[in-house]
Amino acid sequence: MDILYVTVDCARHDAFSCFNPGLKHKTHNIDKLAEKGILYTQCRSTAPFTPSSHISQFTGLNPYDHGVRTMYGVKMREDIETLPELLKQRDYETAAFTGFGNLVSYYGMNRMFDKVYETVPGCKGWRKNPVGWLGYDWRKEFKEYMRGNNKSKFVWLHYFFAHTGSDAMIPPVYRTQYRDESKPELFENYHAKIQWFDKEWLPFILEQVDMSNTIIVLTADHGEDFGKFEESHGKELKDLTIRIPLIIYHPDYMHETKAEPISAIDILPSIMNSLDMGTMVKHNGILEDYIYLPAYFETWRTRYTEAPVFRCGMCCGEWKVIYKGAGLKEEKKLDEIYHLTVDKNEEKNLAENPNVLDATKPIQIAIESTFDKLDICIKKDTEDKHKFEQSLKNLGYM
Ligand SMILES: [Zn+2]
Repeated sequence: MDILYVTVDCARHDAFSCFNPGLKHKTHNIDKLAEKGILYTQCRSTAPFTPSSHISQFTGLNPYDHGVRTMYGVKMREDIETLPELLKQRDYETAAFTGFGNLVSYYGMNRMFDKVYETVPGCKGWRKNPVGWLGYDWRKEFKEYMRGNNKSKFVWLHYFFAHTGSDAMIPPVYRTQYRDESKPELFENYHAKIQWFDKEWLPFILEQVDMSNTIIVLTADHGEDFGKFEESHGKELKDLTIRIPLIIYHPDYMHETKAEPISAIDILPSIMNSLDMGTMVKHNGILEDYIYLPAYFETWRTRYTEAPVFRCGMCCGEWKVIYKGAGLKEEKKLDEIYHLTVDKNEEKNLAENPNVLDATKPIQIAIESTFDKLDICIKKDTEDKHKFEQSLKNLGYM
């Protein structure tokens, strides 16, 4: 059975109409896939920024275990086993197609994949588009690759164009037809870019696969804040940036909607278990009989000019708890608590309410038990400014 793992960068939980029926511009092709698959309406990412979240999905590990906890100057730990490597041991061929610069090689993810298609500076495709690093169209290479051989495949497809700044790449007809002027200027083409994926990319992708022999995951790495709590994404742990859409199409499973909270680290281990490729990774088994462990998330992401602030949190049932601090155990403090069923927009922080403090004690204990691990932290991005700047240059930012 092939596994096709598609991530739509920045697709927040309400970006597809199968998750958000009130959405003005329907995502018809995504919805068609959803009708055949399992929809998870409460899936949360482990981090609100690209590399950390993706690596969690491919290792089944939270960021404090895989090591990529900031945006620049870090690499995935070398001593951890990744799930694509386990697939390789079971005779799978693995490939990655990323639209985001040298995402795979920069963070040390190469060993996961037999073949990597990325736009490293100087290589084919680099600066092919008007904005350099902001998105690469890998469709042609993907099509050729899928014709290439008969081995079972694990293929990661990373659509980067929903990200801020990639507007110049989308066909003008989408910008005309789907622009949303009610959004801040940076994000007015967001749904146009989701529409481009839905109308052109997804049908193209599906044409290349045999649906009777392919498991298809359609999800995201994080959401997008649109300027409500922060400028874009990466600093906060609100659901606008942490909660992501998740559809799993599996030829052996019926359509279903699951509203239990899950973590994105459980997606791939669960699929591998369904194929009798049990992993050593602790997971919830979301495709099978499951228990719901709290979903953990963290961020140490900073803007270039700002000092980093660490945040970590957990979702369990109807509660979300967030701690804030500089990273040292004694400095972390319980900062935010939200009752997600009654306060979906996370506007009412209940952290000062004694009854709520009491009700959420088990989650506080669960998250505090991770603090020892959390304190093995990496602050390279502030320690070595030169390296940081070089990293930005390598990624094409400067
Ligand atoms: Zn991203």
